[in-house]
Order: sequence, then structure tokens, then C-alpha cells
Amino acid sequence: ATLSSNTETIAAQATAPGRGGVGIIRVSGPKASEVAEQLLGKCPKVRYADYLNFNDLKGNTLDQGIALFFKGPNSFTGEDVLELQGHGGPVILDMLLKEILQINGLRMAKPGEFSEQAFLNDKLDLTQAEAIADLINSNSEQAARSALHSLQGDFSKLVHQLVEDVIQLRMYVEAAIDFPEEEIDFLADEKVLNSLKGIITRVEDVQQQAKQGSIIREGMRVVIAGRPNAGKSSLLNALSGKETAIVTDIEGTTRDVLSEQIHIDGMPLHIIDTAGLRESPDKVEQIGIERAWAEIAKADRVILMVDSATSEQENPRDFWPEFFEQLPEKMGVTIVRNKADLSGAKTGLSGDSEHPSITISAKSGDGIDDLKDHLKTIMGYQGSTEGGFMARRRHLVALEAAHNHLQTGLDQLESYVAGEILAEELRICQQSLNEITGEFTSDDLLGKIFSSFCIGK
Ligand code: GDP
Ligand code: ZN
Repeated sequence: ATLSSNTETIAAQATAPGRGGVGIIRVSGPKASEVAEQLLGKCPKVRYADYLNFNDLKGNTLDQGIALFFKGPNSFTGEDVLELQGHGGPVILDMLLKEILQINGLRMAKPGEFSEQAFLNDKLDLTQAEAIADLINSNSEQAARSALHSLQGDFSKLVHQLVEDVIQLRMYVEAAIDFPEEEIDFLADEKVLNSLKGIITRVEDVQQQAKQGSIIREGMRVVIAGRPNAGKSSLLNALSGKETAIVTDIEGTTRDVLSEQIHIDGMPLHIIDTAGLRESPDKVEQIGIERAWAEIAKADRVILMVDSATSEQENPRDFWPEFFEQLPEKMGVTIVRNKADLSGAKTGLSGDSEHPSITISAKSGDGIDDLKDHLKTIMGYQGSTEGGFMARRRHLVALEAAHNHLQTGLDQLESYVAGEILAEELRICQQSLNEITGEFTSDDLLGKIFSSFCIGK
């Protein structure tokens, strides 16, 4: 990142909207000390908590509280920062912010703009900035811990190490290209081959860890589909431990899509209960069925529920081929045979990994844990491991690209083609890795990342 040339000073409420014991307004930029002069009558001593009156521009007191001043570059954003910690009432904070914004050269901060400044001033790299948003948004302990590890630079360190390794190899390869008479020897050099293979293995290791982090962040979407009365809504309730869905023996009770989020061992599981799939003259039910298919399109997995107490004990692929024909390509299906308490079937997992089937009783809860384990296995989730870090989809994409370029380079090397191609693959690989930490990032991507932050962060 390059040093930002921000001449504007930004301000926003840093605490959540609503009432609270304390409400904080944060100001960042060259005019932060002037804001302090105007509202507090002085600029507080750097990094000392000063208890002061907060005044409007005419000198009338609006509130009183703690003021803190951080001199750039030793601040969160790297610029001068003023923090006013007043009483956490929406009206008070609004009045204070309005006064601040009247000062010349001040404007309201955009969502995530403080973090963006911190990134532009090299206080954080991009994965760390993303981790701030993830930490704030985390809704499980695992997610919070992983986000903190990313914020502390665990993920960045691994990426930097990979970049270092790639640079070392590039230097060696490019030096060899500059001495063409030695190139043949160089391509046969085991050292290059081994070093390249070593980097590929380490990228794969980081990919594996990042995948775990991204599962903790994004979770898994599972759609429960099936005929009316199979017990779909009962399964949603059994998994979530709540009475979210209305359960009746009247076919077509669930007409819309219902969803719940639970955690399996730290993995967020979004469960979506859908209207029973059947031909129906009922307009509302028809719309529900359309929505069910729309949900299936976005799912990581479909649970097809059948009633094991009825004739549907046979393979649903045989008696319901239309369902499988309408499924998106590559969509995995787990058949769940429900009502084991009625049919007397043995609960648990059966079938092979391509055609798994699980027998449960949504009513008694038998087999529900088997189903949870199965869903974890499908996602490749290894459970909450200490020291894991948070990762996003874009990180996985960049790692995948880096891996592909290394692999292509290796293929070239092994088939004794020109060293230039290996050098070029290594160069692009390095770029992909740098995208993760933001050393090589388009403005578009930055805009997209920071605009999803909340205001004041
Ligand atoms: P849905 O239409 O697929 O959502 O099915 P529901 O969850 O509404 O259940 C339909 C009927 O089957 C209700 O009367 C449930 O009480 C009953 N049911 C659901 N699961 C079980 C089960 O495991 N055992 C038994 N005995 N009844 C069940
Ligand atoms: Zn239902």
C-alpha cells in the first residue's frame, strides 16, 4: 500500500447506534486537533485520558466525558485521531457529531473508512482489515477466535512466508535464464524441482487451513426437501432445538421457506425448510415450491427426506427420478429416511459416500447426531482447532490461482520446456499471493471490501 494523501478529516460514531453507557465519536485526519480545540477548548495531551466538557461551536456544553488524542502515525488509522467518549444516547451523540461536521474540512466517514485509512497507511494489511469486520460480525466463539488470529497476522504471516519462498526461487530461475549456456543444467537441477515441490506442498497446507477458516466464516447451507409430511419441518425443529416450523399432519402446511442457523462444533449450519414438493393447484403452495427450488440452487447440500414408514423405503432415485433430474448439476444429495420409530428401521448412516443415506427419527431425535457428523464430513470440516484463522472466499480463490500457476510451472519444468515459462508462472503466482494481503489489489476490490463494513469502523 502507498501512503495515503488524505487531506480530509472524517468523523463518525464508533459505537453501535442506540442507547448505552458510553457512546464514542471518532475523528481522524489533519484537523483532529482543531476539532479538539473548538469543542474542548484544548487538544488533550497525547494518549492521556482527559475528562472535559464537550461544547458546541458557540461554547455551550452539550455533554461531558473522556477525550483521547492520538498523534499520527501512532494511531489506529495512522493519522491524527480524536476520540470523544460521551454518554451513549442517540440524541447527544447526534448533536455532537453535527457540530463536528460543521467545522471546515470535516465530513462524515463512509462505512469502513477508518479501517481503509489504516490499510492505506500500512497499519494493517488487507486480511487484517477484513478480520476486523469478521471479528465484529462473528456469531460464535470459534469465529471470534479465528478472526482475532487473522487480525493478529497469523494468516498474513503464512502468506508472506510463501511469497518469500516464491521470490527466492524466482531469483534463482531468472538468474539461470540470464546465463542461457547453463539453462539446460539448471532445468535438470534437482534443487529447483524440490524447492518448487516444497512450495506447492506448503501452499496446499495453507489452502487446507484457509478452507477451515472459510467454513467457520461462511458455514454450510443445507436445504431440506421432500414430499409433504415426510417430516421436513420436524427435522428443522429437531436440529435447531426450537419450534420454528409448524408441524402438522396436514399436507402443504409449510408453504414458504423457513430457516434457522445452528452451529455444529463451531461450523455455522444454515438449515432451510421448504414447502413439500408436489403438484399442487394451490397458488401459494406453488410459489412456495418455486422458492424451494431457488433455495436448492444456492445450497451446499440437499437433504431429501422420505418417510421410511411408507413405501418410500426403496431408493428415491427410482420412484422419484423427476426430482433428481431437476437438481442443479453436481448438487450432492443425502437421503434422510425419517420416522424410524414407526418403521423400526435401524438409525444411522448407510450407503456409500456418493449415495449416502441416514435413517433418523425426527420425533425421538435418534440419528440426528449421525446426520450432524455426516454434514461436517461433507464440508471437510475438521472441527474447531486451536490457532485456526479466518479466511474468505476471495482468499481461497487467490490461493487456488497461486497453486495452479505453481503446478503449471512444475509441469513445464518436468517436461524440460524453457525456463522462461516457469519464471512467468512464478511471477503470476506471487501476484496472486500478494492479492490476499492487499499488496497488489485493484481499487474496485478495496471499495467492495470496505463498503461492507459498518460505519465508524
Ligand atoms: P413436513 O410436511 O415434511 O414438513 O412434515 P412435518 O414435519 O410437518 O411432519 C408431518 C407429520 O409427521 C406430523 O404429524 C409429525 O408429527 C409427523 N412426524 C414427523 N417426524 C416424525 C417421526 O420421526 N416419527 C413420527 N412417528 N412422526 C413424525
Ligand atoms: Zn413442513
